[in-house]
Amino acid sequence: MSLGLKVVKGMKDTLPQEIAAWHYVESQFRSLVQSYGYQEIRMPILEQTELFKRAIGEVTDIVEKEMYTFLDKGGETLTLRPESTAQTVRAVLENNLIRNQSQRLWYYGPMFRRENPQKGRYRQFHQFGVEAFALEGPDVDAEQILMMARLWRQVGLDKKIALQLNSLGLASERATYRQALVDYFRTRYDMLDEDSKRRLESNPLRILDSKNPAMQPLITEAPILLDYLGEESLAHFTQLQSLLKASHITFEVNPRLVRGLDYYTHTVYEWVTTELGSQGTVCAGGRYNDLVSQMGGPATQGVGFAMGVERLIMLLLDNQLIPHHDSVDVYCVAEGDLAQQQVMVVAEQLRDALPQLSFLMNCGGGSFKSQFKKADKSGASFALILGEEEVKNQTLSIKALREEMPQQTLNLAQAIEFFKAHIKRG
Ligand code: ATP
Ligand code: MG
Repeated sequence: MSLGLKVVKGMKDTLPQEIAAWHYVESQFRSLVQSYGYQEIRMPILEQTELFKRAIGEVTDIVEKEMYTFLDKGGETLTLRPESTAQTVRAVLENNLIRNQSQRLWYYGPMFRRENPQKGRYRQFHQFGVEAFALEGPDVDAEQILMMARLWRQVGLDKKIALQLNSLGLASERATYRQALVDYFRTRYDMLDEDSKRRLESNPLRILDSKNPAMQPLITEAPILLDYLGEESLAHFTQLQSLLKASHITFEVNPRLVRGLDYYTHTVYEWVTTELGSQGTVCAGGRYNDLVSQMGGPATQGVGFAMGVERLIMLLLDNQLIPHHDSVDVYCVAEGDLAQQQVMVVAEQLRDALPQLSFLMNCGGGSFKSQFKKADKSGASFALILGEEEVKNQTLSIKALREEMPQQTLNLAQAIEFFKAHIKRG
């Protein structure tokens, strides 16, 4: 480009040829949340920095190094949202949505994290997510897992994505466990990598999340959080598992699955595929009963998940699971001044009668030959043709572009019936 201007690193344009995939997954989310009675909430992409620091935690990857933060002209520190759970909590508190009632909400939109860009990891990406408030579970925890299981089935990915499940119990139980973990790793300090040494004091559970292969033997031998759970927490976890089994959801209990955030309680899970390399987590979720009160609200349970839309689309494309949509149904060509005037009128009448079909007008004139070339390139199924003859006889001609069929000359009413019969739209 002449000025050398480029899209920001780690961000990208979604081009017209990619948009069918996005529309497809977006319509899948909408039908999914609709069938579970969740309501949409739309929130700004900018929030006060303090919100994320408080909710996500100072010693997480996101807050430590991934946030896009800047000083606004008014002197306020603002951050592009790296995720939406924190802001959903802010929004429900600020708008009194959880006073004496529960809520089931969903959102969809761009998130921003300053990570190293690679396959499945971008600096602007999209999440589809749900959050439910003031419901104790584990029924609603199971409901949200069933939702995603339904989505995988709907799009044909149920054999490719597996569920890993764990319980983090209560904050107090985790505190006892945390101490045991610190003791364990401290006696093996020399075997820790740099990241883990740093985390030992700040966030030792996150060591279990390490992707470093050299750390794996040490992690495998470490104490297990499940052994530190009390009766109530174990009951929650056991009930969740029976609900899932009753609904024929297969899962694996992974005792080393921690999501590294202080606010999680009880349920945590990830939907994982082996097909996206190390970016294999497509969707992650869990319960956060301490977050609302931590953010200054009344003690209120919360549970939700967030799905990475780019990772889902990549999986669908790799497996050729995006249904093909022709972008255009009918390409309208006309030769002669009168015909060019008339074809616009006819196309408007067809759009009135057939609002679900798309009509692409050949603007800019040209010979029939060059217009038919464009019609072919457009991918349209049919060409609508107006020439001198048609104008004189008040008819229009229709030519099939993708199949063998004799050209037809019809009046308007017949043409409407013809398109109705020959073009099916979902
Ligand atoms: P990871 O371990 O891959 O960094 P995470 O724990 O940071 O994931 P969450 O904050 O739980 O991810 O976000 C939920 C989902 O959002 C992830 O499972 C993933 O599908 C998607 N996601 C997170 N970060 C990115 C990113 N930078 N680019 C694309 N998708 C992302
Ligand atoms: Mg991350």
